[in-house]
Amino acid sequence: MSKREDLLNALATLERVGRLAATGGEPRAALREIVAMVAEQMATPLCSLYLLEPASGSLVLAASTGLHFDPEHPPRLAAHEGLVGLTVEQGAPVAVREASRHPRFKYLPETGEERFASFLGVPVVRGTDTVGCLVVQTEAPRDFQEAETHLLQTVAHQVAGLVYTLFHAVPAVDAVLRGRVEGQRIVGTAAATGVAIGPAAVEAGLLPLHAYQESGVPEVEETRLDVALINARNELDRVAEQLREEVGEEEAALLDMQRLMISEGSFVSTIEARVAAGQNAYRAIRETTLRHYHAFEKLADPYIRQRGADVLEVGTRLLDTLCKGDPVAAAVARDDSVRVAAQIRVTDVLSASEQGVRGFVQGVNTPDSHAVLLARALNLPMVTGVNLTTITEGDRLIVDGTTGTVHINPTPDVEEIYQHDASAVVDGWRPPCAASELPVRLLANVSVQRDLDTAVTHGALGIGLYRTEYAFLLGRDGLGREEEQYRIYTDAVRRFPDHPTTLRTLDLGGDKPFLRLLPVEEANPLLGLRAVRLSLHRPRVLRTQLRAMLRAAAVGPVRILFPMVTTVEELDQLRAEVAGCQVALASEGVAYGTAVPVGVMVEVPAVARAGAALFAKVDFVAIGSNDLVQYTLAVDRQSTTVAALYQPLHPAVLHLIRDTVEAAHALGKPVSLCGELAATPLALPALLALGLDELSVAPTAIPAIWEGLAKLSRAACAPLLDDLLGAPTEAAVVDLLRRAFPALAGDH
Ligand code: PEP
Ligand code: MG
Repeated sequence: MSKREDLLNALATLERVGRLAATGGEPRAALREIVAMVAEQMATPLCSLYLLEPASGSLVLAASTGLHFDPEHPPRLAAHEGLVGLTVEQGAPVAVREASRHPRFKYLPETGEERFASFLGVPVVRGTDTVGCLVVQTEAPRDFQEAETHLLQTVAHQVAGLVYTLFHAVPAVDAVLRGRVEGQRIVGTAAATGVAIGPAAVEAGLLPLHAYQESGVPEVEETRLDVALINARNELDRVAEQLREEVGEEEAALLDMQRLMISEGSFVSTIEARVAAGQNAYRAIRETTLRHYHAFEKLADPYIRQRGADVLEVGTRLLDTLCKGDPVAAAVARDDSVRVAAQIRVTDVLSASEQGVRGFVQGVNTPDSHAVLLARALNLPMVTGVNLTTITEGDRLIVDGTTGTVHINPTPDVEEIYQHDASAVVDGWRPPCAASELPVRLLANVSVQRDLDTAVTHGALGIGLYRTEYAFLLGRDGLGREEEQYRIYTDAVRRFPDHPTTLRTLDLGGDKPFLRLLPVEEANPLLGLRAVRLSLHRPRVLRTQLRAMLRAAAVGPVRILFPMVTTVEELDQLRAEVAGCQVALASEGVAYGTAVPVGVMVEVPAVARAGAALFAKVDFVAIGSNDLVQYTLAVDRQSTTVAALYQPLHPAVLHLIRDTVEAAHALGKPVSLCGELAATPLALPALLALGLDELSVAPTAIPAIWEGLAKLSRAACAPLLDDLLGAPTEAAVVDLLRRAFPALAGDH
């Protein structure tokens, strides 16, 4: 064929692709037609289109000429896998003469791909997003010409347009593969009550998602990058300085690698070169970060490999700074979305609530995770255990956290009902009886300051658990200073002048990792340096916190609570730290509480079984049933695979609560329970029968628990105790409770 014929054919192909893009049609058929046209025009036996699935982050084979596959169960690659992944990661064409010899080679065996030798892939890019990869392959090894690469790139551009035109959403692979979902309803687990309505923001990868408004002007992108680099460097310097002051030189040095990375070397120069070559700053940072990360990941030395985490941290910091620092770039940042992710982390909930995110949909089913507890505390509806492949970025979602339902692109009728309901959710609840008439003292668990308002409006007697670590996690620069902590604690104390505010020292580590304080990454963080173990490892951080708490105790009643204590020796050290802080404050002439009650949490079975030695040295005891269940039944409270084994009403748990109450009461010490079990109406008769003195629940749970307790008396519950303790299974316990108190049964 002559050059002129080649050109005419290429133009005809482009025109046909363009027509398809403009006129739409059945999406899968349109994409099949395109890959067939491209294969024909380029005289290759194979042309395939892979699209990036936002929910899973995988590359899914959407259409192919040359590969065999079942469109209902298309083959998929992880985003960084194979030469396809490499193309997406680089955001640039990849041409390889002998694909099987390339280190990134990976073929899809079920498709017959192994017979192909050469590979040419180009990214499919729409705006700032890489949404897929268009590939041609040949059977005989050969080099590809520049003109072929250009043609494929131009077609890929049209394909991105087609995806967008047809589905009004980028990326939209779900819609491509299944047709757009409309009026669909999926049911998961109701994790945090309330209704949230908004567009889906799907978090898929290693880096956070931002809505970045590309300027289209290379100089502007360069300036934005420069400003982001300066701001990120300054921020890192500030954090390092604070660490040096408050924790130590060694810990501050942990940030050296990150500081080096954004000051000099190939990381920054690659980003700068990309922007100079016309890429926008956001994509340049994202792609360079991911390339560097994967490069680290491949290294043999495990220590160096772990530095990949630093790369991701720096990349995240730069992206955040870029999108925050420039008002135009950030102008489109969506703050009314519903966050959708496989796993929502505590820090996600904190930052999302600051940005005004409306609610959450989570893939894994962990309705008692700390992230869920926080979402509840912040009144952010959340549904967990949802099949995320049905949700696409930009879908309109209604998250009904009360029934556990997620509506995807609801019909107007459904939306109207929910809009009405959402506006009707105003706090008009009134307690059915006086607090003093309840058979147990009802207190509130507080995680963030906003909880205090709800605790007050719902009539909590006081604060039974203040999870102080959330203020640390929320703090932009990480560590809370003494003054800041003092301010937060006194705010609570002033709201509850008549009942002690129970301030728990930091419960970090475990599923609330706070990397700056943790010296090493542990294989089993839940059994490692967590809670008081971490506090004792970082005495300066502990002392700052105790000083702030003791000073708040001069303003109003405060109790200090230590989480996850296991041994008497730990408690002795903690008490010594309290005494040491009191001496220091006295010598400085600072006002502080002299007789501040100190308590331990019972979260480890060992303490529940042999607690007397510990209880003798404290003023009160608080059972953390969330962790007690986790450690008793050896079930990670966040796990989805063994979630069915997480049984808060398991007879073994009831026995441990009974042991705790008996040992503490024998010493005249009151016992509270502040895990989610206290917020489960059906569990209330068991807790009263077991003799607890106080229950502490999320402020939003107070109405339901108040109403449940109002129907009960200790005398009516006590006779159940022997049967409950003698029950062989959790199911038997539930059955007993249901039969004895049918009015509470609907709640379990
Ligand atoms: C508990 O473990 O029950 C508890 C109240 O503590 P947290 O949920 O914060 O771990
Ligand atoms: Mg706990």
